[in-house]
Amino acid sequence: MIYDVLIVGTGAGGAPLARELSKKGLNILILEKGAFYPRGTAVPHIITSKLSLKVENESDIQDNPDFTYDFLEYPPEMMHIEDVGGTTPASLANACYACTGCYANSVTAQFKIHDLDLFEELIEASRDLKVGPLPASRMGPSTRKIVEAGEKLGHFMEPMPKFIDFDKCDGCGLCITGCKKGAKWDSTDFIRELIDSDGSKQCSKELRLKQDSEELKVNDLKDDSSNIQGITAVNGPAKHNMTLITDFNVIKVFHDGEKVEGVEGVDKNGENKTFKARKVVIAAGALNTPKILINSKITENVGENLFTDLFITVGGILKGAKLNQEIPMGVKSEFGPYFLSPHFSGELIPILTDKGFDVKPDDLIGLMVKMADEANGTLHEDGVVEKILTQKDINLLKEGYCKAVQILKEIGVDPQSITSTPIRGAHPGGTAAIGKVVDEKFETCVKGLFVADASVIPQAPGRPPILTITAIAKRLSKIISKDFEGVTKNN
Ligand SMILES: Cc1cc2nc3c(=O)[nH]c(=O)nc-3n(C[C@H](O)[C@H](O)[C@H](O)COP(=O)(O)OP(=O)(O)OC[C@H]3O[C@@H](n4cnc5c(N)ncnc54)[C@H](O)[C@@H]3O)c2cc1C
Ligand code: SF4
Repeated sequence: MIYDVLIVGTGAGGAPLARELSKKGLNILILEKGAFYPRGTAVPHIITSKLSLKVENESDIQDNPDFTYDFLEYPPEMMHIEDVGGTTPASLANACYACTGCYANSVTAQFKIHDLDLFEELIEASRDLKVGPLPASRMGPSTRKIVEAGEKLGHFMEPMPKFIDFDKCDGCGLCITGCKKGAKWDSTDFIRELIDSDGSKQCSKELRLKQDSEELKVNDLKDDSSNIQGITAVNGPAKHNMTLITDFNVIKVFHDGEKVEGVEGVDKNGENKTFKARKVVIAAGALNTPKILINSKITENVGENLFTDLFITVGGILKGAKLNQEIPMGVKSEFGPYFLSPHFSGELIPILTDKGFDVKPDDLIGLMVKMADEANGTLHEDGVVEKILTQKDINLLKEGYCKAVQILKEIGVDPQSITSTPIRGAHPGGTAAIGKVVDEKFETCVKGLFVADASVIPQAPGRPPILTITAIAKRLSKIISKDFEGVTKNN
């Protein structure tokens, strides 16, 4: 069997691409490293990896007697997920438009440098994800307090665009766990949509799902769902044929130096398997796509140029704030390459406890400072990411930190309790960047081998990238479909 298109990964890039191509009647194979878990179980699946940040100018760190930049004292971290849906189930549903005029380092601006305008696809993607601003009526009291304080200090606060169906959302505040009510979009929705289509029941015995079978309307799987080899044969809407294999770790792509031929990997039982395809799209995320490319002897600039949209959460104690029970990050205030947004972070609890505070989650309030860091990181073979924290990066974090402290003080947070999380990164990207590893059609130096995930974004957007990655997948689906137009298949 030779598949038309083989897609590696089911995250923000892979799932939308599969959905688009499935509408075209192509014969598609999706290979996914992880398993299919029920909604609401994302947090234990977050992989926290080491981020080695070298500070460019150590002497300039503590230059302001009014502030201690404690975020520089803790080991930095990076987060992602390797399961069906990729990292999207943990998202906070922020759907930022990469508008050229909105802020410096805009994704649209950086793509324009490469003569690539994604505007049409961004609009299509936001329609698919049902993006809309947080309605004023759904803004929680602590978010509202932050808005009022921010605006008093001269910082304009706007509603955050969200991919949430507000009719289904009860405002529980647990978006990071994955939404049990199905109100928040994540890319498993697109996979579920394909599985749920006409043919799914016919092949249901092959479908491996962990406890989630009811939601997928394949109740007959309950008996044997825990140990079936991870193969889902999905026959979707008329005329298309799609197969999803979970628990399959793609190791490398094979090619003759010029043209792609297929991929090789290891299945759940540790057996090596190969699959042939006319086109291969790697959408394994910015921390895994480079590994597959390097194993496939595509090495030039691969794994370099890494950014993560570094962030900290600055918070403190405000009795009865209950920010943890509000829709997270409901508003944002833009400051060019960074923004501030209300954010509850449980990471602050042990830090405050260490400082001698008796803190309960309900009494914690905070603001996230998220910034576009410089794309100067390298992903090493052992998976460690090394980056220089430049003077520019530090200055932006400090600036955001100071603004957050002022807002927190304005709303009555105990000033002694104000502290910060470590520096973290949740948007790794840039490791197979346009203009360096792929061209403006997302194709590598091997014909028919493409990349469609955060790896291709050349510079840090400094904003949540799911909408942009989905737009990239949409554009690639158009490119690939065009290549198949009029081609008679003979599998
Ligand atoms: C806590 C948290 C909150 C976030 N909130 C937001 C938000 O509100 N809005 C937003 O826009 N972004 C948010 N993000 C970031 C966003 O989730 C990621 O940037 C995005 O999912 C990246 O998409 P991707 O396609 O590059 O990779 P992923 O979504 O990570 O998908 C990669 C896929 O490839 C699979 N894979 C990896 N290696 C292999 C292999 N060898 N073989 C087979 N399959 C493989 C993985 O299992 C996964 O399915 C958040 C991230 C975190 C951690
Ligand atoms: S706040 Fe709304 S979208 Fe988020 S998990 Fe709760 S119900 Fe779902």
